[in-house]
Amino acid sequence: ERVISGEISNFDEQFELSLRPQNLAQYIGQQKVKDNLKIFIEAAKMREESLDHVLLYGPPGLGKTTLAAVIANEMNVKIRMTSGPAIERPGDLAAIVSSLEPGDVLFIDEIHRLPRAIEEVLYPAMEDFCLDIVVGKGPAARSVRLDLPPFTLVGATTRAGALSAPLRDRFGVLLRLDYYDELSLTEIVCRSAELFEVKIDKIAAGEIARRSRGTPRIANRLLKRVRDYAQVIGDGDITLEMAQAALELLQVDPLGLDHIDHKLISTMIERFRGGPVGLDTIAASIGEESMTIEDVYEPYLMQIGFVQRTPRGRLATALAYEHFGYPLPSQT
Ligand code: ATP
Repeated sequence: ERVISGEISNFDEQFELSLRPQNLAQYIGQQKVKDNLKIFIEAAKMREESLDHVLLYGPPGLGKTTLAAVIANEMNVKIRMTSGPAIERPGDLAAIVSSLEPGDVLFIDEIHRLPRAIEEVLYPAMEDFCLDIVVGKGPAARSVRLDLPPFTLVGATTRAGALSAPLRDRFGVLLRLDYYDELSLTEIVCRSAELFEVKIDKIAAGEIARRSRGTPRIANRLLKRVRDYAQVIGDGDITLEMAQAALELLQVDPLGLDHIDHKLISTMIERFRGGPVGLDTIAASIGEESMTIEDVYEPYLMQIGFVQRTPRGRLATALAYEHFGYPLPSQT
């Protein structure tokens, strides 16, 4: 289990629930996204209409599910949660949307993984709030139109590019979540510590934030592990020394990188002279899937300027050489 993965693990679910912000005021950071949403929500409420369909995209663990629930709370409606791979047949979707009440939020996580046949059923549901369902088989088959209450679809995806254009075009609001800055993450760590009822120095919270790869899920997970450490080794309070020692034990370095990042970068440098090297070649060399590298490992390494994507492949930058202690290759 990778402690600094943005993806959810079985251990996260329960404690994450207790840490979830309930409204926009509690939702830390992502100021632009919040400012936009505030206006759209206020306008929809004034017109007594359902909110436009919203597409949230960005790397895992940045708070898309949380934000969907916040939107429903701010609109004073209920939320129904499902995910792309969970909807296998048109009937599954029909069962969900026909049980919604006017204005409700339908949240579809990993919406890029919806089967194409379902997408097509979704189009009229999003546009005209109706479903065209085929009943019967063979020559006796006929299409029945089912009216739906107006609802808001909130879709979440880590890969906006993988969404088909017709589906993407049906969202009125597209919001990109970015990695959080250190200040916002520090605030998130302090808020979570308060909810955990554990005392933490602001500077220790900053240390956890710095190693959290801009991702609240990772910040909360690290905080949980540091809390355990502080409880066993110290008196339960989290000081800077305590945080540093615990994070060292977890093998998360000061930039939030671990042995997998190290392996990826060292492979690029030692075996491919820093690149450019193709994604599939790197994947085969370190025994990982290309998609995992592209979606999970690489975005943060690119964000901190350690890896560059070029038309000829991936390139390790001078920053990566320096951080992992490699001499820079000569200009020749
Ligand atoms: P995935 O892509 O895996 O579905 P996600 O982007 O939907 O992840 P969430 O599950 O919403 O991420 O967030 C993970 C955890 O991070 C939540 O439990 C929540 O406590 C915390 N979190 C996310 N965003 C914020 C925020 N803006 N302020 C405070 N806490 C946050």
